[in-house]
Amino acid sequence: MINFTVGPVQMDKETRKIGMEEIPYFRTPEFSAIMKENEKLLCSFFDAPENSRVIFMTGSGTSSMEGGIMNFFTSEDKVLVVNGGSFGHRLVEICQIHDIPYTEIKLDYGKPLTAEGLAQFENAGYTGFALQLCETSTGVLYDMNLIGDFCKRNNIFLFVDAVSGFMADEFSMKNMHVNAAITGSQKALALPPSMSFTVMDETAIARAQKINVKSLYFNYPMYLKDGERGQTPFTPAVATLLMLNEKLKRIEKTGGIKHQNELAKERAQYFRNKIKDLPFKLFSDAKDSSNCVTALCPTKPGVNAHKIFEIIKDEYDMWICPNGGDMAEKVFRVGHIGNITNKEIDKLVKAFKDLQKRNLL
Ligand SMILES: *Cc1c(COP(=O)(O)O)cnc(C)c1O
Repeated sequence: MINFTVGPVQMDKETRKIGMEEIPYFRTPEFSAIMKENEKLLCSFFDAPENSRVIFMTGSGTSSMEGGIMNFFTSEDKVLVVNGGSFGHRLVEICQIHDIPYTEIKLDYGKPLTAEGLAQFENAGYTGFALQLCETSTGVLYDMNLIGDFCKRNNIFLFVDAVSGFMADEFSMKNMHVNAAITGSQKALALPPSMSFTVMDETAIARAQKINVKSLYFNYPMYLKDGERGQTPFTPAVATLLMLNEKLKRIEKTGGIKHQNELAKERAQYFRNKIKDLPFKLFSDAKDSSNCVTALCPTKPGVNAHKIFEIIKDEYDMWICPNGGDMAEKVFRVGHIGNITNKEIDKLVKAFKDLQKRNLL
């Protein structure tokens, strides 16, 4: 099978090799040193301000979405939440569950947040802002410079779910005035699902310390304290952290995060060029689209997007990514993260052309 989903994605051989090994005991100075290096490299790749820290959470990306909302906001806050797809909607649900006062900025799915859309929330007493970098369900990349400037101007705490956007799209906590940002192991880092990582600046650290959330597993002050000596409060997904270390060092040696952004961009453009003449419409405008994923709507009447996913899986041995909810029958996605080659993209395009010949597309 070739995997064009957005996670878990195809891993590198270096990562898989570590997966073959025994899991070492981790309450040791040797493992602590690896963790300190992981923290340093993640802060550097997020372009985080000095004195930023990282929470290493064993739990998929959603655990760090929820952990972030719990540790950074309280019922005293007033949070703007962008809902431009299923991950934005998840942030809304988390605010509801934890009684965080919020205002939902509901976008038409596939559309970006614009300066005009944001203007009405200026000087309106908001204290927090939560959104995705890339809304993975639609492929929209939000304008983080616009949003960061808005938050700085209004003295708003900015929490970004960069789970899918990290490495694929340009992202700088410093330049975009982001206080806390998350990513997950099974997206562009191309590790097994199991962990998510929150990079926090000093403001985020101070917020979490002050709030001191009523939770044992999600108590960030405890993670920060144990993290000072390169440890986590509970047993982490040790193998994932070793794979993370190898991957981060390899990224550093091969042109850093900038080079990763370029690779993702090249791959996304390669794919989008190849499908120009196929009966698809881009779900989000090219100028608003992330390099992580392309969301496509089949244009021929009667063609069902979910059915295309099934045929490609069962008859062509490839996974593309189906959509859920309201978009299930209209939209599918092709991911550009993980270890994907242009040759593999060519195979997928060939399969689409074959479907066209068979009158199924
Ligand atoms: C994948 C993803 C997540 C996390 O999903 P999990 O299934 O919990 O790993 C969160 N946000 C975005 C934008 C994602 O793409």
